[in-house]
Amino acid sequence: MDEKMELAAKLVKTHELSEQELFRLLSGRDAEISEYLRGEAQALCQKHYGKQIFIRGLIEFTNFCKNDCYYCGIRKSNRNAERYRLTEDDILSCCETGFSLGFRTFVLQGGEDPWFTDDRLCSIVSHIKRNFPNCAVTLSVGERSRESYERLFAAGADRYLLRHETATAAHYERLHPPELSLKTRMSCLRELRAVGFQTGCGFMVGSPFQTIENLVRDLLFLKEFQPHMVGIGPFLSQKNTPFREYPNGSGELTLFLLSVTRLLLPKVLLPATTALGTLMKGGREQGILHGANVVMPNLSPAGAREKYVLYDNKLHSGAEAAESLNLLKESLSRIGYEISPSRGDSLMQ
Ligand code: SAM
Repeated sequence: MDEKMELAAKLVKTHELSEQELFRLLSGRDAEISEYLRGEAQALCQKHYGKQIFIRGLIEFTNFCKNDCYYCGIRKSNRNAERYRLTEDDILSCCETGFSLGFRTFVLQGGEDPWFTDDRLCSIVSHIKRNFPNCAVTLSVGERSRESYERLFAAGADRYLLRHETATAAHYERLHPPELSLKTRMSCLRELRAVGFQTGCGFMVGSPFQTIENLVRDLLFLKEFQPHMVGIGPFLSQKNTPFREYPNGSGELTLFLLSVTRLLLPKVLLPATTALGTLMKGGREQGILHGANVVMPNLSPAGAREKYVLYDNKLHSGAEAAESLNLLKESLSRIGYEISPSRGDSLMQ
């Protein structure tokens, strides 16, 4: 066995690799190793979660944002973004539609919009939980205070997604304006977990200036933090951002990292992201074949979907649309999977 294959086999057997080993695995990957890890990651996922895929109804409820992340289409300096906010009634009616379609998790995602104070967000969360008591609510609303996280958890929110974006401080600084720091991001993540949320972190693949060393640090951070969920998707450029000239991230590397992540964290919830589906035809199915087990179809009202433009050409129709769940079912059944009717909680402790 050559050295790279030995490393891959070690990852499959022990679910860990050192920094140097991860570097050698990532930088020396080839088609044979990728296919071997893909098959092992898929089998490991099936061992824990079977051939069932968890679905989440994604409600993009505001594209107002006080932040200015250089990669993001809803950054505050993007004067071309048409801003919108859903009302509590709009959000509840998205949940109503989602519930009747079979969704048992609602993900409320938005920019960091100060209009959504703790009082307003807690009211939304507690109404959703009252109307749909057997459903999970996931929040993805960025950095807030510990007190705010506590109040949202007490109001009934179950899970929280906050991608760390990159675990290397110097790289973080090149992706964000000076008022945002990796230190704060990481401390929010630790607080979210301490408060009791099932917590998700994650990163973009191929973001500007990213090196293999950065990705290795991301993987080591995942291993150390032991999140319940990990969101990994390619960076996709957006024409109204400072990163408009940078190329999209690689689908091949994103898929490879999904497999490695599954092998490092066997029980983690791993979505096949919309960004991956946008980058490559069949990306969502490929993600599942590489070890992912979650998809997040869009439940936002049609008018909102066109305005939540994190990156160019973002998919929001066909099997990405919650109302077309039958298309998703068909495409999953073609690869031997079905949609789970459950809430889809993580098996991670
Ligand atoms: N404001 C919340 C936060 O910061 O976590 C949630 C919304 S934010 C738009 C959700 C995620 O979109 C980010 O964590 C980032 O990884 C991803 N994203 C933003 N711009 C992107 C781009 N150009 N390409 C790929 N992903 C992007």
